Amino acid sequence: MPSNIHSRFGDLPLFIDGKASPSASEQWLPVRSPTDQSLLAMVPCATEAEVARAIEAAHTAQLAWREVPAPERARVMLRYQQLLKAHHDELAELLAQETGKILADARGEVWRGIEVVEQACGVASQMMGETLENVARGVDGYSLVQPLGVCAGITPFNFPAMIPLWMFPLAIACGNGFVLKPSEQVPLTPLRLAELFREAGAPDGILCLVYGQAPQVEAIISHPLIRAVSFVGSARVGAQVYRRATDLLKRAQCFVGAKNHMVIMPDANKAQVLSNLVGAGVGAAGQRCMAISVAVLVGSARDWLPELAEAFRAVHPGPWDSDEAAYGPLISHGARERVAHLIEEGIREGAHCLVDGREVTVHGYPDGNWMGPTLFRGVTAHMRLYQEEIFGPVLACMEVETLSEAIALINANPYGNGTAIFTGSGAAARQFRHEVAVGQVGINVPIPVPLPFFSFTGWRGSFYGDLHAYGKQAVRFYTETKTVTERWFDDDVPSGPNLTISLR
Ligand code: NAD
Repeated sequence: MPSNIHSRFGDLPLFIDGKASPSASEQWLPVRSPTDQSLLAMVPCATEAEVARAIEAAHTAQLAWREVPAPERARVMLRYQQLLKAHHDELAELLAQETGKILADARGEVWRGIEVVEQACGVASQMMGETLENVARGVDGYSLVQPLGVCAGITPFNFPAMIPLWMFPLAIACGNGFVLKPSEQVPLTPLRLAELFREAGAPDGILCLVYGQAPQVEAIISHPLIRAVSFVGSARVGAQVYRRATDLLKRAQCFVGAKNHMVIMPDANKAQVLSNLVGAGVGAAGQRCMAISVAVLVGSARDWLPELAEAFRAVHPGPWDSDEAAYGPLISHGARERVAHLIEEGIREGAHCLVDGREVTVHGYPDGNWMGPTLFRGVTAHMRLYQEEIFGPVLACMEVETLSEAIALINANPYGNGTAIFTGSGAAARQFRHEVAVGQVGINVPIPVPLPFFSFTGWRGSFYGDLHAYGKQAVRFYTETKTVTERWFDDDVPSGPNLTISLR
């Protein structure tokens, strides 16, 4: 049932069997521009029957797709990479409108997704098994890597291009079907990604897209044809998804919240530290799972705080198409309220707010979800400001005397997504790299998101599962290994039954 409400992009269809599929849902949600609250689209919460239809379409397509040779599957990815590059600007503009991200950042996000598609182009060599001749006399052993069947992806609002592209290209290149349930807050970019994938020659049904919230996620996870679930989002929901999927004995990987610390040694290059802290702290309005939200100033590095405050005051949010804007709005009014509340709570708990972004306004956009850069010093580990993921342009500064203290602080935090050290000392960098209990480490690099030939390796409270996103680990996540032991008899057949477990 269409929503009958006028919006810029209209009532969005689901994407099933290679085409737009209007939803019969009675539940529709508004997609609002975070920049001015204008109505961009209405998005349906797919019915249970529609979710099942998407999964069954992906299953039917997968039965044929798994027989397509790996180099041919890779050629679809090559064409997809070219199409994504040809549509780079269009995708970035769409993404910027629904997320509010500034255009340069939106272009960067699309590019990081394209890089994963490039990795999927090399799927043939990544799916090679192992061989050992003569595991016993006249017996050979080898392994085959085969697709699972239909896999599912549930993605968050903050990267509507990059995170779906972490998942479906590689899963499908491995020979699987895929059902994607993107965030209902940013449905436009994922739909366009699916259309372009079809245009690149992907068979009908191999990638299906449904929208919705918790009930749709439950319908996906519990469907018997779904073999594996990839989730990216908040820690609360990720834990639920992981428990539910593994309770049903399915494979799951859940990438969740973060609290990323950057350690600043007094021997670091000050100018680099200041500009990197601003970029990594407030870029994308702090709505990145790898954003730096805590700066740990070691020893005399604390003397740089006044200049850091100046650098924070010098950047301003603004609309996605403005060259002046350093970053865009928060995703929703609710997200803005939450961040404002955590700032207030920080002040109440005794942290010193050096720069307060709550009153910021943007000329011509009175209704945007704006939050100015916000900087605290004197933050301690028991404060909510420190304990919670803020997901806003807020940087908490803490001061310690030694690198070992900084490492102990980071290792005591429940999250372990990303971290960085800025230093001029190789010995300090090595100690940090070796001792820190975080899965992605930057040395004079503030946001160390690995390129796709590695994997995205968050640890501890930032990740539930074993095998991570993209890279070799994702190929293993989306496949099953079959091991074959093979003998061909010649005239020299051993006589009598072999009653032992050994091969003879
Ligand atoms: P979210 O958890 O609210 O939503 C994520 C997805 O889950 C969406 O598709 C949403 O529709 C669905 N969902 C929401 N409630 C659900 C429920 N009760 N049951 C089942 N599904 C449900 O997250 P968000 O606000 O969209 O994204 C921000 C969060 O994502 C932050 O915590 C951020 O750190 C995290 N994130 C993590 C990574 C990472 O790699 N670790 C990357 C990006 C974002």
